[in-house]
Amino acid sequence: MTPKVLGLLDFKLPEEIIESVTTSARIHVGPRCFDFHSGNPLVYMTSRSKFDTLLATKAAEAGAEFRDDTLVQNLVRRASSIEVQTTHGIFEAMIVVGCDGMGGSTARASGLYARWDPSEVAYAIESEVPIGKEAVLEFMGAERYFDVYFGVSPAGYGWIFPKDDHLTVGVGCRLNKLRDGPQLFKNFVDSLKELDGCDIPSPRAHLVPLGGAVHVPVVGDRVLLAGDSAGFAEALLGEGIYFAIYGGQIAAEVASEACRKGRFDADFLGSYERRWRDAFGTDFESSYKMARLSYLENYDMDRLAKFFFSAPRFHECMMGLLDGSIRYRDVPKKLAWLYLKYKLAKLHLPVPA
Ligand SMILES: Cc1cc2nc3c(=O)[nH]c(=O)nc-3n(C[C@H](O)[C@H](O)[C@H](O)COP(=O)(O)OP(=O)(O)OC[C@H]3O[C@@H](n4cnc5c(N)ncnc54)[C@H](O)[C@@H]3O)c2cc1C
Repeated sequence: MTPKVLGLLDFKLPEEIIESVTTSARIHVGPRCFDFHSGNPLVYMTSRSKFDTLLATKAAEAGAEFRDDTLVQNLVRRASSIEVQTTHGIFEAMIVVGCDGMGGSTARASGLYARWDPSEVAYAIESEVPIGKEAVLEFMGAERYFDVYFGVSPAGYGWIFPKDDHLTVGVGCRLNKLRDGPQLFKNFVDSLKELDGCDIPSPRAHLVPLGGAVHVPVVGDRVLLAGDSAGFAEALLGEGIYFAIYGGQIAAEVASEACRKGRFDADFLGSYERRWRDAFGTDFESSYKMARLSYLENYDMDRLAKFFFSAPRFHECMMGLLDGSIRYRDVPKKLAWLYLKYKLAKLHLPVPA
């Protein structure tokens, strides 16, 4: 979780769910390594089992009835309600907010969309590598690093996130550029000398939407989508938790208004579309554009690294994106001068100092 997630929550994150707090990043581009230091937290590392349990508990404390192990199978719109058919019974609702991720059933069952285009989605394959608490601390060092690796995927990057007693090791690739996911993971892991001699548990593959590339409908009669099922993960850093929570909050406000006014038609619920777009739609566009220019399409990372990765302005932008002081939509303007120099170099033209 980036620090800006904490600003969205109306409760303090309990210490026991934070497995480590990283304050620096090592960005690897082939054999070169660029250091990013910040005196402040860059990423709070947790595990989904802990974080999701916390969120479910908080929802239940607020009055929600939490039904675990209950899969939504179908939705049927009735004259004055919507029927939610699940593996454990049928529920009658005024409105449904579908936040069932990329493989969920709400979007399809409500007729909003049936499938993803491979160009709108990133494939990510990860393993949790147990190395013990001490080895994790040693890996992080006094600067408390996490690592990102470019040049290990045709349209993506790899990562090592230090957690409590293990490392989360993974690599991603835009789905339409992927050939063999398990092989991509194996090649990445084999290239990491930090993992020499480690037992690597079988990796698990997941999908994540590339916000900005995604254009799926998220509003229908009596239905709203939020989180990954709405395509709410930005493409540059692959950050989805912040936008899932932010979008979920907007969806909750719109659903409450709908209940107060007794209006559940797509026209009335359309304010959700306007509000999430106002809140972070242009951030998705910018982040997708930057991801395309850097590693999704125009893979030119050596030259980009040379012009960007050591520049204080770039560091400031990256830190600002994580702590929320800078928006994705503002980054292109802030980096315009560096980008101009990079473009001139690419065209073999003289580059001003
Ligand atoms: C490997 C990987 C690493 C990532 N790392 C980060 C990161 O470090 N930081 C970050 O911000 N983002 C990260 N993301 C993106 C982030 O995980 C997602 O954007 C975020 O989890 C979206 O939340 P969500 O609630 O919409 O979907 P999900 O987290 O996918 O949750 C969907 C939930 O719906 C349930 N569900 C599915 N189908 C049904 C059904 N039919 N009926 C009932 N329930 C159903 C699922 O069991 C699940 O609990 C990562 C993504 C991947 C794939």
